[in-house]
Amino acid sequence: PLWEKQVRHSSTPRRPNGFSVLVTGAAGFVGSHSSLALKKRGDGVLGLDNFNDYYDPSLKRARQALLAKQSIFIVDGDINNAYLLAKLFDVVPFSHVLHLAAQAGVRYALQNPSSYVHSNVAGLVSLFEASRQASPQPAIVWASSSSVYGLNEKAPFSEVDRTDRPASLYAATKKSGEAIAHAYNHIYGLSLTALRFFTVYGPWGRPDMAYFSFTKDILQGKAITIFERADGQDVARDFTYIDDIVRGCIGALDTAQRSTGSGGRKRGPAQLRVYNLGNTSPVTVKGLVGILEGLLGLTAKKNVVRMPGNGDVPFTHANVSSSVRDFGYRPTTDLATGLRKFVKWYVNYYGIKITKGDAASSSSSSRYSS
Ligand code: NAD
Repeated sequence: PLWEKQVRHSSTPRRPNGFSVLVTGAAGFVGSHSSLALKKRGDGVLGLDNFNDYYDPSLKRARQALLAKQSIFIVDGDINNAYLLAKLFDVVPFSHVLHLAAQAGVRYALQNPSSYVHSNVAGLVSLFEASRQASPQPAIVWASSSSVYGLNEKAPFSEVDRTDRPASLYAATKKSGEAIAHAYNHIYGLSLTALRFFTVYGPWGRPDMAYFSFTKDILQGKAITIFERADGQDVARDFTYIDDIVRGCIGALDTAQRSTGSGGRKRGPAQLRVYNLGNTSPVTVKGLVGILEGLLGLTAKKNVVRMPGNGDVPFTHANVSSSVRDFGYRPTTDLATGLRKFVKWYVNYYGIKITKGDAASSSSSSRYSS
């Protein structure tokens, strides 16, 4: 069948000893960037995504079109579809899985809690089951989240810090995923690497995230809501640029132990590893808004209110020394530089002309404008 041909073509590496990677969530923000980067260096990449409508699916379709130009095919399916996964592993001997499909976002759990359990818990088990039954067994690198540190106040967060106080259902499902991984590694020797991403931002980003919706609202002259802590202190995040995260994902894939060692080399039982991927320099949300105002040449109408306790954490800050040690991770993009690239993409994608701010020269009419 045609799809099988596309699947084979898409997942065949172009460089000698290149990987064959299944990227779940490939139509998503991190998944689309990672797929392009892997393909660019000659790995074979096959995507899988259910194109759900948690946020505007047309953005996912536009990312899919971008990947299609590089001959990356995305299978339209759910990670809970055991039959589909078995079929994919049957057709392609994937060396690696980069698992990024998940129900993201913290506040949406108040409306749709079961979607978190479906994708982040049941979906993870479904993927681990298919992987442990596959031959060869792929090494799996997947996205956990900085949210597992919950209400920790001792910063920066390192991987050994406590993670038993999640502040949201999202965080609880991500933490559950790490526990499930431990069991799969223990019983089946699956090679598993969890990456705890810290607030990722950049071009082709997620419309539900603050930097994205603030940009939209500031441009439309709408008021934005900024949360501050109960003690009046500012909320801060370790905002991490997408290219740094992608380099971290690829570094983790490159060093992931293979349970069935390639080239016949025995490497002993594969481990479960957990790494932070952050930027190591938190910025307050007010600081973020200040940078956006400068880039857009507009002053935001701000409502500053106390955090309502809806799942957000007051503070994140990554210690990345383990990622530096094991795969040379090094974040290189500061927030002002990264946001400039985001704004440049945003105005181009939505066909908006800005005339005043620091990003003004970069705006242009867009082929994506509707
Ligand atoms: P995203 O929502 O843009 O991407 C996730 C993709 O997975 C989407 O395209 C969605 O359609 C797909 N998907 C969701 N459930 C699925 C399912 N059951 N079956 C198949 N496809 C499914 O999110 P993102 O920002 O790219 O996040 C990628 C990963 O990184 C997620 O695991 C997320 O939890 C994690 N993460 C992201 C951030 C961040 O700041 N962006 C921070 C921490 C962790």
